Amino acid sequence: MSPVLNKSMESPAPTSSSSSPLPLADWTLPGIGLLKGMAVTATNMIQSYYRKDRMTTVQYPEERAPISPNFRNFPFLVYDGSDAMAGLRCTACLICENECPPKCIYIVLERDENGKSLKRPKVFDIDVSVCMNCGICVEVCPFDSIYMDGEYELSTPDRFDGLLFNKQRLARSTDYHAQLRPLEASEVATRREAEADKKLAAQAAKAAKANLDKQAKEQAAAELPAAAE
Ligand code: SF4
Ligand code: SF4
Repeated sequence: MSPVLNKSMESPAPTSSSSSPLPLADWTLPGIGLLKGMAVTATNMIQSYYRKDRMTTVQYPEERAPISPNFRNFPFLVYDGSDAMAGLRCTACLICENECPPKCIYIVLERDENGKSLKRPKVFDIDVSVCMNCGICVEVCPFDSIYMDGEYELSTPDRFDGLLFNKQRLARSTDYHAQLRPLEASEVATRREAEADKKLAAQAAKAAKANLDKQAKEQAAAELPAAAE
């Protein structure tokens, strides 16, 4: 008796694509990807005993793993020079305070006795218990004054004042910025130098023009009596 072949069990009619054999390079054993992954893991594990760059854990807190260049937590304020308070770049323009989504920045502008703006903050507080690390304050600041920090050991038993950072706590030098984010800091420094040069050139041109105008006026004043004679 000849075996009965169900229609659904019949081989499909050969097509031009299925009839050509699979290239040898495309043949793969089941589970080969798993074995390759295990080989990488084993290599890393064995090399971690004698190669420092293969070590994926460190003896924290005695050792600290370097942070990723893109890691950010809370903002800090940059100052130029050696005096942290006098060198703050912040002009207390309030843009970051207005743009901060959870409203955790509080700024008071410093004024002189006549009420004139001194273009620096008398108070600059950030409540880091509310800050959501978005970096919007950095993006909107027009004065290169605020950047995101990489500091992460901020635990404190004081959940209120301990997490309210004032301007003294927030101030960081340009060297700190350069060490933390070299690329960003060098771009900012180059741009600020170019802007300072441009400003100096504009001031020099203005002074030269004022000098020329003054000389022209003096010459005209000297020529007037002579013309009247
Ligand atoms: S990082 Fe975002 S939430 Fe935090 S202070 Fe800046 S704008 Fe506000
Ligand atoms: S940090 Fe920048 S945006 Fe915020 S108040 Fe200061 S200058 Fe203005």
